Amino acid sequence: MTKKEGLWDDVFEDFGVVNGMLTRPLGLLDYQTHYFNVDEYYGDWRLDGKEYVINLYDLMPVLNDCETAADVLCKVNLNDIAWKGFDHDKSSLGDYCGCCGGYRFRDCDATIPGILLEGVQNPGGKYYRCLDGKHRIYALMSYQMQYGNFYVLNMSDIEKYLIPL
Ligand SMILES: [Zn+2]
Repeated sequence: MTKKEGLWDDVFEDFGVVNGMLTRPLGLLDYQTHYFNVDEYYGDWRLDGKEYVINLYDLMPVLNDCETAADVLCKVNLNDIAWKGFDHDKSSLGDYCGCCGGYRFRDCDATIPGILLEGVQNPGGKYYRCLDGKHRIYALMSYQMQYGNFYVLNMSDIEKYLIPL
C-alpha cells in the first residue's frame, strides 16, 4: 500500500462498490468521540480496566493512509462485532434506541463504513469492537444483511490518540 497525499475530500474519490457492497465515504466531524468507559447502561467498555476517550477525527490520517477504499476497507461479519447495545433487547434498539431515541438510527446511512478496533477485550468477547457506526450496524442487521465494510484498526493505530479520563 502506498500513501496518498492530499486532503480528506480528495481521498478515495473512487468509492462505489467495494467488496461487493455499495460504499460511501466516511465523514467525521471534529466533536465525534468514542468512550472506553464503564456505563451502567452499556456495561464495561474500558481498555484493560482503564477509562479513555478518543476523538475520532484524530484518526483521519490513519484511515486515509491507503491508496484506495478497497485497500483499507474490510468485509466483516456483523455478528463478529461488539457494539454498545449489541446485547440489549430489541425494545431498546433501532427506533427505540436507548442513546438517541431512534433519531440517529433513522438518519444513518448504512453504506458509510464504520470503524472497528480488533484484538481488544470487549463485553461480548467478539473479535471486533465498534468505535464508530453502531446505528449503521444495527440498520444493516435490520435489513437482514450479514456483512458490512469497515475500517479495521488495532491498538498500535490508536494508542497515541487515547486520552485518559
Ligand atoms: Zn442511538
